[in-house]
Amino acid sequence: MALFLFVVLHWYISLFFQSVFHHRYAAHGIFSMSKIWERVFFIGSYIAHGSSYISPHTYGLMHRLHHEHTDTPEDPHSPSNSTNVLAMLVQTRNNYYDIHSGSVVPEKKYFKNLPCWESMDRLAHNWISRIVWILIYALVYYTLAPSWWFFILLPLTCALSSVQGAIVNWWAHRLGYTNFAVSNTSVNILRFDIFFMGEAYHNNHHKNPSYANNAHRKSEWDMGYQCMKIMDKLGIIQLKTRSKRRQDGLPKPNQ
Ligand SMILES: [Zn+2]
Ligand SMILES: [Zn+2]
Repeated sequence: MALFLFVVLHWYISLFFQSVFHHRYAAHGIFSMSKIWERVFFIGSYIAHGSSYISPHTYGLMHRLHHEHTDTPEDPHSPSNSTNVLAMLVQTRNNYYDIHSGSVVPEKKYFKNLPCWESMDRLAHNWISRIVWILIYALVYYTLAPSWWFFILLPLTCALSSVQGAIVNWWAHRLGYTNFAVSNTSVNILRFDIFFMGEAYHNNHHKNPSYANNAHRKSEWDMGYQCMKIMDKLGIIQLKTRSKRRQDGLPKPNQ
């Protein structure tokens, strides 16, 4: 039971940083925050992602390329360019390191307002750091697992942020429903998203990437947006588009 709680908590904390900090803040600039809070989010991402840390700077670049070149050969993580989800995961990893190392440099426009903390990225990408985190996870499993069978989940824990990214990037361009006709393969993957912090509404997001709230129908619910509203009220962040949906009126599905 204790290990189950750890896995569930780790899932949501990891997803919180990837969805709110990497995706909505770094890639889309949906809210602003002070430099100090930005550093707190960097440190939180390092603790939450551990051995699978992803640089928010490089993530932001890749994700902007994804929106600009969705489903084309220039898309850094598209199911259209891979035969299966594992092949896409490997391709995403290769594209990530090409961009992160500077061997591939996107156009200047993609760098605008990206958060950057080079020394944190260096520390978190170091193989010693990755191994220390894997040892910490192994110790947690050793302490909490009621039987050795539970170690089957250890690879998921070690690669969690990459796996979460791959699930959304693959599934949300493959199988689901649409609210909007868009010129790409994006779909919403869950009617009520309790597992992906609002990232399940990918078709809504591709239609309106600058909207803070990914949910559009009354039956849809964006957990990440609810977290952002609370942080906005607490003065941690400043949402830029909180009232945008209200101003624009409810979007009409399938138009
Ligand atoms: Zn997409
Ligand atoms: Zn996006």
